[in-house]
Amino acid sequence: FQISPNAKPIAADLRAAMLQDPGFGRVFTDHMVVIEWNEAKGWHDARVEARGPLSIDPACAVLHYAQEIFEGLKAYRVPSGDVVLFRPDANARRFNESAERMAMPSLPEDTFVEALEQLIRIDRDWIPEGEGSLYLRPFMFGSETFLGVKPSAEYKFIVIASSVGAYFKGGKPGISVWLSEHYTRAARGGTGAAKCGGNYASSLIAQKEAIGHGCDQVVFLDAVEQRWVEELGGMNTFFVMDDGSLVTPPLGGTILPGITRDSLLTLARAGGITVREERYAIDQWLEDARSGRLREAFACGTAAVITPIVEVRGQTHNFTIGNGGPGIETMRLRDALTAIQRGTAPDPHGWVRPV
Ligand code: PMP
Repeated sequence: FQISPNAKPIAADLRAAMLQDPGFGRVFTDHMVVIEWNEAKGWHDARVEARGPLSIDPACAVLHYAQEIFEGLKAYRVPSGDVVLFRPDANARRFNESAERMAMPSLPEDTFVEALEQLIRIDRDWIPEGEGSLYLRPFMFGSETFLGVKPSAEYKFIVIASSVGAYFKGGKPGISVWLSEHYTRAARGGTGAAKCGGNYASSLIAQKEAIGHGCDQVVFLDAVEQRWVEELGGMNTFFVMDDGSLVTPPLGGTILPGITRDSLLTLARAGGITVREERYAIDQWLEDARSGRLREAFACGTAAVITPIVEVRGQTHNFTIGNGGPGIETMRLRDALTAIQRGTAPDPHGWVRPV
């Protein structure tokens, strides 16, 4: 990596003010990492430079055919003062799985992780104290200037970083989800398991519908029967049953294999909790919520960690889960995971990586 420090970084006092209440995805650091790819040279020209606008041709492939993938993970400041990443190798692996699905070149996993580390080292003062963290956004896009429909012959891999506080504003006890009965997110053979921008573009109308109905997030059903719960717009889902067991929809190509999901499965199993990766029907969800067989439901992902789902709303389904507040098991799992991420509990699975 060629390192060219930003000649005009944001002043320390202004940065401190920006970190007071950073919200999510609006406060950016001083630098970015860029690596280029073309057929002749492969990956080359890796650099750390001042964060700033890109100059791309209007015929740039990604602007037309959306050949783009991304990742999202967080760096935390732990009590010793060190900075750590949570399972960056898992993000590197998923990034390459997304790349393969989108006919893009793969990036060596150690290069992916080193890019994150380079950016964190140069911008470590941007990691907020306390509850906050540094959200890292690696992404890659087809950058060839060509309007033919084919995999791009050139790519850019970039990492930017954003100082973040809480994902859902106002410290809400839980979220309400809107059941999308018209739109689906992914079909078999499609791109549901890839973290590509197009998946999010197509989900926005459903998310807009959710917001329009006063809900926080949309919940998608499968595309074949419109019956099985898949995931939220940007999070996986779990159900806590009255016998203490957990149910989560299985990976099968139509949902994103969340790293939070995987971590919770591991933690729960290690803690002796029965976990079933099996399909869960929307009608069952309603019935179980009414009968009390379902005790809690929650959504999980990097940005929001674990967030209780307290209410489901839709054209034909309207129900509350448990007492409409955060469930005990949900919060227990949340505490267990965040303690590992923030270095206040042992890390038996070797997930935390010092930078
Ligand atoms: N599903 C979708 C659609 C997502 O965008 C995300 C966020 N990356 C997740 C699930 C959760 O994945 P992770 O736990 O790896 O953040």
